[in-house]
Amino acid sequence: MENIAMICAMKSSLQYDVVIVGGGLVGASLAASLKDSGLSLALIEAGPPANRRDVSSTPDHESACAARFPDEATSHSTRLPKNVNQVAGYHSILPPVGEGVHESLRDAPIDDWDSRIYAISPGSRRFLEQSGAWQRLDANRIAPVEEMRIFGNTGAKLEFSAYQMGITELACIAENRALQLALWQILQEQDNLDLFHPARCAALSFSDDAARLMLEDGRCLNAKLIVGADGRDSWVRNQAGISAAPVDYQQQGVVANFSCELPHRGIAHQWFQDDGILALLPLPGDRLSMVWSVNPEKAQELLALSVEALCEQVAGAAKHIMGQMTLITPAAAFPLRMLTLPKITAQRVALIGDAAHNMHPLAGQGVNTGFRDARQLAHLLTDRGACNDCGDAQLLRRYERKRKEDIYTMQATTYGLKNLFCNSDPLLRNLRNLGLNVTDHLVPLKKLLMQHARN
Ligand SMILES: Cc1cc2nc3c(=O)[nH]c(=O)nc-3n(C[C@H](O)[C@H](O)[C@H](O)COP(=O)(O)OP(=O)(O)OC[C@H]3O[C@@H](n4cnc5c(N)ncnc54)[C@H](O)[C@@H]3O)c2cc1C
Repeated sequence: MENIAMICAMKSSLQYDVVIVGGGLVGASLAASLKDSGLSLALIEAGPPANRRDVSSTPDHESACAARFPDEATSHSTRLPKNVNQVAGYHSILPPVGEGVHESLRDAPIDDWDSRIYAISPGSRRFLEQSGAWQRLDANRIAPVEEMRIFGNTGAKLEFSAYQMGITELACIAENRALQLALWQILQEQDNLDLFHPARCAALSFSDDAARLMLEDGRCLNAKLIVGADGRDSWVRNQAGISAAPVDYQQQGVVANFSCELPHRGIAHQWFQDDGILALLPLPGDRLSMVWSVNPEKAQELLALSVEALCEQVAGAAKHIMGQMTLITPAAAFPLRMLTLPKITAQRVALIGDAAHNMHPLAGQGVNTGFRDARQLAHLLTDRGACNDCGDAQLLRRYERKRKEDIYTMQATTYGLKNLFCNSDPLLRNLRNLGLNVTDHLVPLKKLLMQHARN
């Protein structure tokens, strides 16, 4: 650690208020939301961002970078390389689409719909609107969720409807790569931001007044605050000495998109089954996106099925309410785990997104919780009052305090629901189904649940 400080002191370091490590949806959203903050920012992304094909560099920003790094302007150019399939977001245990798909699915038709989709809550949508990212999405590729129907394994049912709640939609389904693209377009136009990508971090050290980050190529960055937005295996979290053992859910999320015979009418369905949780979310037109959380053996079984057999299994598990289903993107599986950290800040470090928490996707709250981290941190950073130190210990304590309850609630809810429903105990079986039915009749409770999810 001392060596880094010495090397960085000897070389001329770049000075920033905030350095964000990780340009996935959450890190990129934080950078974009700080565009008018007057703070100087850097964002380090190890891989090229998703589907950057259409993102071109902006001459102004490029010359700004060239001015900062006269010898290295091209090595961190914002021009995005083509044809790279690495996508920030889920952590596939199969190669990403395009790089190779499971043997049995090679004959699957490849539709250009992203199988990585998110149910974006109204609160997250507002946050993305504030930075202008949401407006850049193609409205024809976004599907509103107007109703949500949740089924227990003995026929118990819980329904939420936007109409009942007096709102236009419960959530919006948007594609991962479209969101990434929209955010990265904003980052590239941002005057107060330097993008380093692809770039890898080598070392991080802290002192009372700054953090020093050295990249693998030897460049040094000094910052008042380092934000770890580098996903579930966060390097920043590790360097800051924050750790906890993750809880393996012993489940994988199998995702795929389908077209369906019968109209989905903007309804999201979720079935809690003895051996897993199946969610079918509406996409525009007659399309549906599936997340089926099952044990690893069943996940491998599903991936090994022929296209026709997979469609039949999914249609059957969905009680054929969508009629016949046709696969439009290859299936992939993602390991699921929960990670609850004892703290999400350390000296001159704040964690956001999956670096700060991992949760089960059954409530579709992972990235939404990450956006709420970013929104809160952006708010505290822009509203610092007389304090001009972005890494001030009090400011970080405030961030920690403000985020604690929401993160804990989301993790406890998803953990509790997963364990309650994926459990063969007959007593629990009856209780959980009773719980669904009772909740369904308690309108104020339903409103309360929705209120939390909508933020
Ligand atoms: C099957 C499944 C379904 C899901 N469905 C939903 C849903 O419907 N709604 C929802 O809200 N959430 C959902 N989630 C959760 C969601 O995918 C994650 O919460 C979200 O992608 C986290 O975003 P992030 O930006 O924090 O992290 P990531 O997307 O992991 O981004 C981290 C970024 O940091 C970069 N990086 C990593 N290490 C370094 C380093 N050392 N230096 C520089 N850069 C680095 C990576 O390249 C990456 O770009 C789902 C998850 C799964 C598995």
